[in-house]
Amino acid sequence: MSGNSVRLQAITDVEAYVPPAVSFDVNETPGEIYGENVFNKEVMLKRLPKSVYKSVMSTIEHGATLDPLVADAVASAMKDWALEKGATHYAHVFYPLTGLTAEKHDSFFEPVSDGSALAEFAGKTLVQGEPDASSFPNGGLRNTFEARGYTGWDVTSPAYVLENPNGNTLCIPTVFVSMTGEALDHRTPLLRSQKAMGEQAERILKMFGHENLNHVVSFCGPEQEYFLVDRHFFLARPDLLNAGRTLFGAKPPKGQEFDDHYFGAIPERVLGFMMDTERELFKLGIPAKTRHNEVAPGQFEIAPMFERGNIAADHQQLLMTTFKTIAKKHGMECLFHEKPFQGVNGSGKHVNFSLGNNELGSLFVPGDNPHDNAQFLVFCAAVIRAVHLYGGLLRASVASASNDHRLGANEAPPAIISIFLGDQLADIFDQIAKGSLKTSKGRGTMKIGVDTLPVLPTDPGDRNRTSPFAFTGNRFEFRAPGSLQTVAAPMVTINTIMADSLDYCANELDAAVAKGTDFDEAVQALLTQIITEHGDVVFNGDGYSAEWPIEAKKRGLLNLKTTLDALPELISEPAMALFEKYKVFNRREMHSRYEIGLEQYILTIGVEARLTLEMGATVVLPAAVRYQTELAANVAALGAAGVEADKGSLTEVSGPIADLKKALATLKDALAADTGHEALGEAEHARDSLLPAMSAVRAAADVLEEIVADDLWPLPTYQEMLYML
Ligand code: ADP
Ligand code: MG
Repeated sequence: MSGNSVRLQAITDVEAYVPPAVSFDVNETPGEIYGENVFNKEVMLKRLPKSVYKSVMSTIEHGATLDPLVADAVASAMKDWALEKGATHYAHVFYPLTGLTAEKHDSFFEPVSDGSALAEFAGKTLVQGEPDASSFPNGGLRNTFEARGYTGWDVTSPAYVLENPNGNTLCIPTVFVSMTGEALDHRTPLLRSQKAMGEQAERILKMFGHENLNHVVSFCGPEQEYFLVDRHFFLARPDLLNAGRTLFGAKPPKGQEFDDHYFGAIPERVLGFMMDTERELFKLGIPAKTRHNEVAPGQFEIAPMFERGNIAADHQQLLMTTFKTIAKKHGMECLFHEKPFQGVNGSGKHVNFSLGNNELGSLFVPGDNPHDNAQFLVFCAAVIRAVHLYGGLLRASVASASNDHRLGANEAPPAIISIFLGDQLADIFDQIAKGSLKTSKGRGTMKIGVDTLPVLPTDPGDRNRTSPFAFTGNRFEFRAPGSLQTVAAPMVTINTIMADSLDYCANELDAAVAKGTDFDEAVQALLTQIITEHGDVVFNGDGYSAEWPIEAKKRGLLNLKTTLDALPELISEPAMALFEKYKVFNRREMHSRYEIGLEQYILTIGVEARLTLEMGATVVLPAAVRYQTELAANVAALGAAGVEADKGSLTEVSGPIADLKKALATLKDALAADTGHEALGEAEHARDSLLPAMSAVRAAADVLEEIVADDLWPLPTYQEMLYML
């Protein structure tokens, strides 16, 4: 066969593919399996001595330090439970700064002198591990001579058993820190930031008369978008396989609308995949409900029920791993990249967040009396202030080479961080702002907590899809996070900037009351002041319009289009002071995150550039040249037969071949260029030289895709990948 065989073979294989039969009892109810593989409260209540159970609970609920004796008792019960579930190994699971999940596996069984093996698992093994940290990025935090990192059990996140055909593993969620206690992971700052935010929120709540509060935490409900493609196509595309996105691919022919389907028509194998994933997630105690409402063909979404931030972050990572594994089982590949297909809707991971606790529910729910509404408005005002002051940090928290394809490219949402409040809430803040201007009484100005407020929105029907940060009735939705990212980084930022804003609000209210101002009036004054100073961040219009960037600039809002524009926000003085103040990051940790951000950016684009060069030179160009040769042979044969040959087609293909060769040469030079040894210089080179050079290669290749004979074209096309499921 000729060089076209890979693609044509893939098509044949896809057509012949028979999805696996359902491998479980379809009549089983979710209740039977929910949390089956989780060492949760119920299991602990059953298996732990009462005093031990109480002690663990007080660590979970109130952050009390864990007693080593308690750890021993828990470890022993956990081991027995895991062995009964067929576990042979245990693993400390952590989230290094690559954004992936890492696990260090150890066997439960240790050989003993009589030649048998004994299951060992002591409290100190549960509580602490020492994986070799040298292969994880640390951004200068760790010298090579202290390559060790430590993992430590996060008691608030339940352990679970992960099933695998080759044996089950007890997974223990842990933090990952350096010798000196500095964070090498995403979980450590998340726990720290949650604490900081909770303390400040509780100050405000006390002022509003709440006594004996349970801890306030942040809740997170992540909506995950993803694509599914047949694995035969996936394996025939080195770009998908190695970079997670297509680096070549012409748009499907005209008239092929991308948004003409999705509702109703879920391919059967996708349904099978969804049922399977849902079941696995249920077993792991992940409250998921798969859905199918995304814009692009082949694109889907899942939104698990919201949970405490750090648990949602764990579950989110676990969900991605589960999806990858189960998609393979169904002959598909799950793509989490933000932009797998150019010109086709990308994927995000909306982070729905609220503050609250089990008693109070969400603090972003308007109450049914003016007093509660005043409290609600203070929390909303704190968000407005936080996003206005630290929009750049929010942008930096979701900065990556892959997410730039969405944020910088006028696609959901824009890189300018603004807030959408919805008509009603915006109107209320408008009135509050004006109220401060009109001081005369009797003109209907609103007094928070005294006059009756207008009915507040409970579920605003208007959903502004273009806003990066939207109020959605009982929560805010941060829409900028990318589908590939962990929700931990944006949650850390949201928690910390909220800690700062709530701290500010509490201080202002304290000071006013101390001066003898009536509390309601102090609240009114605070709201007026915040909306006056920070109202510019509120934008209810179309975030994609050409006018918005101009207007945003006038308002002084940042428009950080690329990762390299956004990352320096992390090491700006106000940011470092902020994170230091709330003990979320010290300055070294901030610098390390900045360095790792650059490093990841350079690595990502470097891989893509080398792949583009290789595929352009060894896959696309040879196909085009073959076709050119065929045409040339045809012209020659016709000439020999005395027939006037039409050379148009030959010219048509020769032009883009020349363009492709030229673009490949430019890319090769750019890859070979000496960029010095400074990370920032290298990253700028990636953005300013490699990316444009890659685009030029792709442009020529995509023209060729539309000219070269279909049977010679080597790469599965967009149409095939997106529609053949
Ligand atoms: P939509 O598509 O309208 O944005 P979805 O139903 O897709 O809404 O997703 C909503 C997400 O928000 C879910 O994960 C849900 O659990 C979460 N959510 C709902 N209420 C809250 C809340 N109070 N705090 C945090 N997340 C919430
Ligand atoms: Mg949403």
